[in-house]
Amino acid sequence: MSVLVVGSIAFDTIETPFGRSDDTLGGSSTYIALSANYFSDNVNLVGVVGSDFGDQNLRLFQSRDINIDGLQVIEDGKTFRWAGKYHYDMNTRDTLDTQLNVLADFDPVIPHQYQQCKYVCLGNIDPILQRKVLGQISRPKLRICDTMNFWIEGMLDELKKTLEEVDLLVINDSEARELSREPNLVKAARVIRNMGPKILIIKKGEHGALLFTDNGVFAAPAYPLESIYDPTGAGDTFAGGLIGYIAKQDDFSELTLRKGILYGSAMASFCVEQFGPQRLLDLSHLEIEDRFQSFLDLSQIND
Ligand code: AMP
Repeated sequence: MSVLVVGSIAFDTIETPFGRSDDTLGGSSTYIALSANYFSDNVNLVGVVGSDFGDQNLRLFQSRDINIDGLQVIEDGKTFRWAGKYHYDMNTRDTLDTQLNVLADFDPVIPHQYQQCKYVCLGNIDPILQRKVLGQISRPKLRICDTMNFWIEGMLDELKKTLEEVDLLVINDSEARELSREPNLVKAARVIRNMGPKILIIKKGEHGALLFTDNGVFAAPAYPLESIYDPTGAGDTFAGGLIGYIAKQDDFSELTLRKGILYGSAMASFCVEQFGPQRLLDLSHLEIEDRFQSFLDLSQIND
């Protein structure tokens, strides 16, 4: 089934205790699309870049059969740039620089051929733009949304309006607390689900993720990785794996959601093994299945 992905497309400059990489391809929708593409053969990207983006990067999406008809290339514009620095605790990072550039005037136009997409993944962008995308899709089956503290702190009312229109929210634990003004995550989940999304996933960085639905809570573990080089994009890669798997199954039953979280976690665990989206470019389906199995094994008890 078809997946529509909207979000930022960026050049990232990343510093971690293990090294630095400058002007690496990044952005929320880059990670979501590359990850979803391992599961769905119909991934459609909507976004904006400048003329500095380069044919090589466009070809990277095309070579994977990711549809870029909805990617606007602005003549003489500059691509969104973001810089971040991680310390030894890779769960926290400092944003060093955000240059919105062409993203500042982004007006998402959904090409006619995308309007029938059944699974919509709204990556982390302005909540007004997220709503504008939803308004152009005729009959989505599932609308997934990601957001971040930047929008919770700066545009809370707009974000709340967007949340009324989404089915599934993916958010990290500190953002869930901030959005709900509730320190306890179980209570926070109740508050957030009352804002709109009936399915809520709270990511806890290297400690796994929690799924809240009408059926209760499901806890997914995190894979204890030995080599974490760069956590950038892990959250988006998680969302991409999740929506890709849901679209492949074409249902969002409790079982599919639970397995989707484990596939999303598996994809995120690969993402952090190298700088930028590098590791997402050369994965095999066998590696993904093996990692999924490792996630299952993590909390399996055989008597
Ligand atoms: P994640 O590590 O999953 O939170 O996502 C990292 C990606 O988010 C990076 O590739 C950045 O380019 C992108 N990003 C950072 N800040 C913003 C922002 N304010 N709006 C949109 N995308 C952003």
